[in-house]
Amino acid sequence: MNRFLSPVCRPKEACGIFAVYGHEEAAKLTYFGLYALQHRGQESAGMVTSNGAGMLEHKAMGLVPEIFDERILDGLKGRMALGHVRYSTTGSSSLVNAQPFRILYAGKSLAIAHNGNLVNARQIRSELENRGSIFQTTMDSEVVLHLTAKSFKKGQEQAMIETVAQIKGAYSLVIMTEDTLIAARDPNGFRPLCLGRIDSGFVLSSETCAFDLVEAEYIRDVEPGEILIIGPNGIKSVYSPIESRKSQCVFELIYFARPDSNVFGQNVYLFRKRQGELLAEEYPMDVDLVMPFPDSGNYAAIGYAQVSGIPLEMGVIRNHYVGRTFIQPSQSMRDFGVQVKLNPVKELLKGQRVLIIEDSIIRGTTARTRIKTLRKIGATEVHMLVSCPPHRFACNYGIDFSTRGELIAAHKSVEAIRDFAGLDSLGYLDIKNMVKATHIPTGDLCLACFTGDYPIPIDDKFTKHCLE
Ligand code: SF4
Repeated sequence: MNRFLSPVCRPKEACGIFAVYGHEEAAKLTYFGLYALQHRGQESAGMVTSNGAGMLEHKAMGLVPEIFDERILDGLKGRMALGHVRYSTTGSSSLVNAQPFRILYAGKSLAIAHNGNLVNARQIRSELENRGSIFQTTMDSEVVLHLTAKSFKKGQEQAMIETVAQIKGAYSLVIMTEDTLIAARDPNGFRPLCLGRIDSGFVLSSETCAFDLVEAEYIRDVEPGEILIIGPNGIKSVYSPIESRKSQCVFELIYFARPDSNVFGQNVYLFRKRQGELLAEEYPMDVDLVMPFPDSGNYAAIGYAQVSGIPLEMGVIRNHYVGRTFIQPSQSMRDFGVQVKLNPVKELLKGQRVLIIEDSIIRGTTARTRIKTLRKIGATEVHMLVSCPPHRFACNYGIDFSTRGELIAAHKSVEAIRDFAGLDSLGYLDIKNMVKATHIPTGDLCLACFTGDYPIPIDDKFTKHCLE
């Protein structure tokens, strides 16, 4: 029996990146940046700093505040820093796979922090191994450093152009040399990456919420296909020789990004609220109250309530002090795992017709347990509206539903999911309305987990552990 129980079964993000160039407090700023990006990965975190001549690093399993303290940060000297928080989507969750990943090549240090999944990593790795390359990790990100090191004699710019010409898939990455930061975003632009300014230095971050915390000024997004070089000669942009249509991950907006971030030019809070407003137009309901399961449907529920006029209630209370795992008392107390984190307000919900707004249903098991609890405390009707279409297809671009078998909507109709979850009714936001809520043209988004229309062909043999 598993002694530890993960409190909720929800999709996981691949990673978050934060980097600083040209600042006295590079390590401390990166610590705060990673703190702001903790939602993007909770398995491990790390930081590499450079003083222009050599690198220092610290990495460990766990959360950012558990890994770094004042003493460790004081030891990470240098005016450049590269940090990473990880949730594993390629390679197991272990210290050897924690990032930034650093190598020594021809007497020089190179470190990488990567967000996304490369779809051709298996093939490149086996070609490199056949030519004698030795790998230290089971992460796709290591492949990028091998390719970069191979062309490094031609100069950083050319090495990066040659590297990105060979890798396929989703990558927002930052490579740090002893005196330069090189940011690159794949030509599809699946994952976000943005550039900011702090005093006379620069910062790079997966999301803008980290800029707010360190009081950096947002300059712009790193463009899809762009390679941005920040070094002693200033800042320079070059572009990948591979052209592709933009396909920015709509699930970043729906679920992963923090609501106080701007991602792909959109404010995430306002996007989610618009989803709720459009749900209210698509599904008028006769219920007593509308509520989210915190924090997944919060902003869409606000939008739904404002347009429909139905009162918004926080019918379920979240315990903010629950850690990532807790000891399960016994097999016979299985529901304890759910209620320790979210507890319904019985007096509010008893005898009420309740509409829940959710941001997604992935496996359906969490929704089923929660709905059972609402019925047990006396809700007379329980309806659910989801602020995106059903997830029917796997994602190989850095989100952890990499096989269709895990997705309830891949093998059940909406009616069957309704019955499985124990709902009176279930509705999903139409895809056209979801795209409308983004203000981004359909052709610039990845919608593959809803439509099966993959912008880059996926590798059917891909699994999280395929490089092991
Ligand atoms: S398949 Fe879905 S989760 Fe994956 S990148 Fe595309 S939109 Fe995002």
